[in-house]
Amino acid sequence: MERTASYDCPQCGERILLFVDQGNGDVQHLIEDCQVCCKANEITVTYDHRSKRYAAQAVAIDL
Ligand SMILES: [Zn+2]
Repeated sequence: MERTASYDCPQCGERILLFVDQGNGDVQHLIEDCQVCCKANEITVTYDHRSKRYAAQAVAIDL
């Protein structure tokens, strides 16, 4: 099953949809370029067993 999570880009404020690979575990860290402003963010994805959903939070990376 495909899972998604969303986060607010800390650099442009847009809501970004993220596809989660469930094979990578309940807590995942990844680096993504924002689809809107193209700036790099570090994303932390966590799986909430109670709601059975992924939640994502993003932190801006200064390059
Ligand atoms: Zn952005």
